[in-house]
Amino acid sequence: MSSARLRFRVTAAAEKAVRAGHPWVFAESIREQNRPGQLGELAVIYDRADKFLALGLFDPDSPLRVRVLHTGKPVTVDAGWWEARLAAAVARRAGLFDERTTGYRLLYGESDGWPGLVLDRYGETLVLKLYTAAWLPQLDEFVRRIHDEAKPTRLVLRLSRNIQETAQQQFSRTDGQTLVGTSPEGPVVFLESGLRFEADVVRGQKTGFFLDQRENRRQAETLSAGCDVLNAFSFSGGFSLYAARGGAKSVTDLDISPHALEGARRNFALNRGEPSIARSRHEQIQADAFEWLAQKPARKFGLIILDPPSLAKREAERARAIAAYQRLSADAVRCLASGGVLLAASCSAHVSREEFFGAVRRAAAESGRTFTELMTAGHPPDHHATFPEAEYLKAICLRF
Ligand code: SAH
Repeated sequence: MSSARLRFRVTAAAEKAVRAGHPWVFAESIREQNRPGQLGELAVIYDRADKFLALGLFDPDSPLRVRVLHTGKPVTVDAGWWEARLAAAVARRAGLFDERTTGYRLLYGESDGWPGLVLDRYGETLVLKLYTAAWLPQLDEFVRRIHDEAKPTRLVLRLSRNIQETAQQQFSRTDGQTLVGTSPEGPVVFLESGLRFEADVVRGQKTGFFLDQRENRRQAETLSAGCDVLNAFSFSGGFSLYAARGGAKSVTDLDISPHALEGARRNFALNRGEPSIARSRHEQIQADAFEWLAQKPARKFGLIILDPPSLAKREAERARAIAAYQRLSADAVRCLASGGVLLAASCSAHVSREEFFGAVRRAAAESGRTFTELMTAGHPPDHHATFPEAEYLKAICLRF
């Protein structure tokens, strides 16, 4: 292999975007490349005046050809540089969580300067999830660094589907593999706001739990006293447990997946020691939530949580997703008792905050009922987003 630095020149538009802090250089914006380059190599991007613009991780097989690590003045990326970058992400979270919350995000990809990489903590277990194969050639080094900084008992590797084959064939890495410590025998138990939850760190969605909804769950807790609560798309019962602790008369999980509902039952069992949770009646419905709400059930609820999976995985699905959010919200509003609250969330990156809030507000207005808006919310501080594509989560709360 040639030892010359891998160098790029990019289109004027890409240059401008990178200069403004956008972390992605797409294959089609590359105008010049001095040599083929290898997966995970450091690539330098020069601007039109031949000055250093940025430095990033190269991935020859991804449409995101370079993921930017640094812009501005030239730097030497050595062990000390990586250690400082890791320490900065840890320092950013200092004081955010007390001992009652041991599950949170330590590294949120591009927004923490670790493009395509997520690191979540579940108690003594860390879960490292890779969305680009560019980290694989030097994985051992990164794992050692993470170990030195965070000292986990265990570290589990998760791989996004699109890189699993490369990981297996070229690096003998598999999704769910334990890289530090002993493999978990089952789900890992951690704390969120003093509640105990299981995370299936080996097979679960994302890294095993939806850590991003913590603040919205806290909001649900404060709105639940004396209510019958419906948690639609309940997964492992995250919102449900907060609602029960907040004094809900009853909490109903609604999910299409029996596996998710079983997880919620186990999470309720883990928290039975909390008197308000033991007092709250826990019910479950296994059904398609869209269909269940559309058939106009007679039951009324004091709080309805809507947290569907992403409804727009592609830009082409955006308009249909917005319409679906509106319909879902309209159906939920019909099931709200007088004074009832709708807490609706969206994790579709292709649907903007304003589009989503607009859809829910239209549903509310068209219901003919009077309502007030209690709050809107975005990302929690351990998932802070520094560019538009990273900002997928939004929530809105209305009282009728
Ligand atoms: N609110 C949850 C996360 C929801 S994830 C939390 O706070 O942890 C989305 C959930 O929606 C998954 O559990 C999935 O099984 C469920 N789901 C997907 N499609 C569904 C459908 N059509 N009807 C009901 N549930 C569905």
